[in-house]
Amino acid sequence: MERDVDDDCTLHDIKDGLDNQEFILHYQPKVSLLSGKVVGAECLARWWKNGKFISPAKFIGLAEESGFITVLTEHFFKLLLGDLPHILAVRPDIVIAFNISSHDLRHQRILRLVNHNIDKGAVNPANIQLELTEGTVADFSYETLGTMHALVKRGVALALDDFGTGFSSLEVLSTFPFSYLKLDQSLIKHITRSGKAKSIVSSNIRMAHRLGLHTIAEGVETEEVYDRLTYSGCQEAQGYWISRPIPLPDFVQFLRTKTIWPSNPIGLLYQAQLDHIQWRKDILETYYYLMTVRSRGYVSDEHLETFRTDHTGCNLGKWYYGVGRMYESYEQYRLIEPPHAELHVTGHRLIDAAIAGDHEACHELIMHLSALSTRIIECLHSLEAAVHRTPRSLEEPLVQAGGE
Ligand code: C2E
Ligand code: CA
Ligand code: CA
Repeated sequence: MERDVDDDCTLHDIKDGLDNQEFILHYQPKVSLLSGKVVGAECLARWWKNGKFISPAKFIGLAEESGFITVLTEHFFKLLLGDLPHILAVRPDIVIAFNISSHDLRHQRILRLVNHNIDKGAVNPANIQLELTEGTVADFSYETLGTMHALVKRGVALALDDFGTGFSSLEVLSTFPFSYLKLDQSLIKHITRSGKAKSIVSSNIRMAHRLGLHTIAEGVETEEVYDRLTYSGCQEAQGYWISRPIPLPDFVQFLRTKTIWPSNPIGLLYQAQLDHIQWRKDILETYYYLMTVRSRGYVSDEHLETFRTDHTGCNLGKWYYGVGRMYESYEQYRLIEPPHAELHVTGHRLIDAAIAGDHEACHELIMHLSALSTRIIECLHSLEAAVHRTPRSLEEPLVQAGGE
């Protein structure tokens, strides 16, 4: 059983610990709330010193202050490379999240090491994810940003850790190529007790969804919290209720034995309903905007781009042709496509009519848009009712997290 001991340690102790091979990695499993499969784990450093575990909170901070963290991070990554074959032998598709700190980013040592190991085939980029906090990326350089884009291009996913605890979240989100958002445990813990915490979490999930980011809830300590998150559209969960961080042999055993967890992809059907309402609101907002600014000759093409995509490119379409396909056998699912395709054609025409200043055409097109929208919502609602009537059996094929 793991113990966290409030030991005083010095940088000298950390260096000794490194020389004596006292650091190991523990793994905390992550479960897909859509499929119920274990999809990954976060690796967390542990220091076994004088017969007890020293908390990373104790030594990571010290190592960061001194800059020695870059040496530790490099060591941890090498430990991970050694552990990975044991994990992948059981589950080749697993994704292990690795924490990096601001020094690591500034000095780029770890980024080069990751790149180098991908180059020589020692690690498949699809098997690793890098976790960074807002604080970590706050004082980035453009060179760092370039390196991170290159890693992402090669297939290494980036996760923004501890989301909801900092101040610059939106700026950070728009600057870095993150594909995962980890909702901080300080919020998650309270969602069953506080209406405000629940609203904040569901707004964060919604925002992440709109930005095409996957959400991971951290600090899931009870079944009740787990269940709530399942219906929220959050994609993954991590926390003590599933498992504490565990040593490699226990994690390998966990992958072999604890293969299926409660799940339900209906949260993404709810998100698809909201996606449609949002699309309609956005196009009407744009229409009013166009009617106002047209006379001043100012229309931004970028602003219109979203409405030039066909019905496969919007968020509802991405769900429909992605995770939503699991409902293909439902008639209600198939009924969504014709009005949805027509909706997008009508949307194009509305934008063109607004640019031309044709009020009459616009009025007719808006009426038509509303009728189509009502049909789509009806289809989505009746699909939801049909899905509730026939709950998915766990033996059915499972979908991977995603949909965007
Ligand atoms: P973190 O990255 O936010 O990691 C999650 C922490 O939350 C872990 O603490 C984990 O044990 C804990 N946790 C997970 N589920 C629950 C839960 O349900 N309830 C509660 N109360 N806690 C939960 P841990 O392992 O003590 O690590 C603390 C922090 O130390 C990490 O926070 C991370 O910032 C840092 N850290 C750990 N390992 C590394 C590493 O290899 N490199 C770097 N740079 N930092 C690390
Ligand atoms: Ca983390
Ligand atoms: Ca965290």
